[in-house]
Amino acid sequence: MSETPDSAVRTYIEQHRTAFVDDLVEWLRIPSVSAQPDHDDDVRRSAEWLAAKLAETGFPVTEVWPTPGAPAVFAEWPSSDPDAPTVLVYGHHDVQPAAREDGWRTDPFEPVIENGRLYARGAADDKGQVFFHTLGVRAHLAATGRTAPAVNLKLIVEGEEESGSPHFRALVEEHAHRLAADAVIVSDTGMWSETTPTVCTGMRGLADCEITLYGPDQDIHSGSFGGAVPNPATVAARIVAALHDEDERVTVPGFYDGVAPLGDAERELFAELPFDEESWLRTAKSHGTLGEAGYTTLERIWARPTAEVNGIGGGYQGAGGKTIVPSSAFVKLSFRLVAGQQPDKIERAVADWVAARVPAGIRHEIVFGAATRPCLTPLDHPALRSVVWAMGRAFDGEKIRFTREGGSGPAADLQDVLDAPVLFLGISVPSDGWHAPDEKVELDLLVKGVEASAHLWGDLAAALR
Ligand SMILES: [Zn+2]
Repeated sequence: MSETPDSAVRTYIEQHRTAFVDDLVEWLRIPSVSAQPDHDDDVRRSAEWLAAKLAETGFPVTEVWPTPGAPAVFAEWPSSDPDAPTVLVYGHHDVQPAAREDGWRTDPFEPVIENGRLYARGAADDKGQVFFHTLGVRAHLAATGRTAPAVNLKLIVEGEEESGSPHFRALVEEHAHRLAADAVIVSDTGMWSETTPTVCTGMRGLADCEITLYGPDQDIHSGSFGGAVPNPATVAARIVAALHDEDERVTVPGFYDGVAPLGDAERELFAELPFDEESWLRTAKSHGTLGEAGYTTLERIWARPTAEVNGIGGGYQGAGGKTIVPSSAFVKLSFRLVAGQQPDKIERAVADWVAARVPAGIRHEIVFGAATRPCLTPLDHPALRSVVWAMGRAFDGEKIRFTREGGSGPAADLQDVLDAPVLFLGISVPSDGWHAPDEKVELDLLVKGVEASAHLWGDLAAALR
C-alpha cells in the first residue's frame, strides 16, 4: 500500500524528531540576548550557528548579514520549478533577557525536557518556531520526492527583535531585491490555546509621541502668579482628558478615517473563540474592562484603533505640598493602528490636535517615535487559505479558527518594503510564557508546526501562481 502524503510527512518527522530536538537544544544553549551588550558575542554565535544549520539542512545560500547592531541570517533555497512563487519566512534568533533569579526553576540557557515540554529562554519566542521550518522543508522534500522546495524558499531571521528591531527596516530596504517575495510567512506568533488551533490574520500598527509643555521659565509662586498665568500641568491634563469621548472613542479629527470596518463574518468568527473574560482579566491583572462602545473586548484589542496615555507628569512630585505653578509638564501617548490607517497621517492629525489645545503663553514640543504600520490579510486571500489548510492537516482536520494580534511587529516592514501579503504560522500557546520565567514550548505542538510547514509549501506554490 502506498503511503499518503500525510503519513509520509509524519513518518519522516517521527524518524528525525529526536535529532531535531537535540539541535534545537544546542541552539537554545546560546544566550543570544540582544538587549545586553555583554551577550553581543552570543548573538553573533547564534547567527553563525543558524546559518551553518540551514546549510546542513540543504539551503544552498546561507549568509550572515551584519547590521549596526546584531546580525541577521538570510537563507535561500530556489525551487527547481522556474515558475514557482517565492515565499519569505520571518523569525528572530535573539531572545529576551533571562536569569535564574527572575524565578526560573532551572537555568534558562540549559534546556530541560519535562512532561513533553522543552523549557528554555527562546524555546517558543522564537527559536523553536524558526527551527520547525528546517525539519518542515526536509519533510516536504521527503514526502513529495522533490530535490528542491515547491516554492523559492527564503528565510530572514533577525537578531534584534527583542530590542525593538532598530535596524530591521534599513536591512530590509538594503536587501529588498534579495528578500523579494510573493508572500511573507511570519513564525513569531502563536495560537489561541493547546486545544484551539488558530491562524492570526493581522497585527496592529503603532505610533507614539512625547509632548512636552513649557510654561514659566522656572517653577513660580502659586500665590503671587497662580491663576493669572497658564499652567503647563493643567494643559497636559486637558490634553489627556480630551483624548477620548464618553463612548471611549478617540477624539482626534480624522483618527478613524480609512479604518477597515470589521465585517460580520469576522465578528462571528471572533465570537466562536472560547473567550473567558474573567480569566482574561486575571491575565490582564486589571479590575474591569473598558473600551470603545459597540465592540467586544477581543474586537477592541484586535480590530479597532486605540489611543493610550502611557505617562503624564510635571510639577512637584515630592513629599508634602509645594505651592507652585510648574515650569513644565509632559504627556506620553501611543496609538495602536489598524488596516487602513497611515501612521504619518495619524501623526499629523495628533500634532494638529495637540497644537490646538495649547494656549498662548505655553510653548510645546511633540516628538514622535518610529511608527509601525498595521498589517492584515483578508480571510479570502488564497495564501491565507493555504496556511489554514496546512494547519488543518497538522491538526488532523480540526477546525482552524482566526485570531489577530493586538501588538505590533517588524513584519509590517516586510509588507511595506516588499509589497507582499503577510501570513502568520505559529504554534506557540499563551502558557508558553514569552518574556517570562520558565518559557517553554510544547514538543507535540512544535511537531505540528513542523508538519504545517511541510504541508504549506506545495499548497502555497499552487495558491500563489
Ligand atoms: Zn518573538
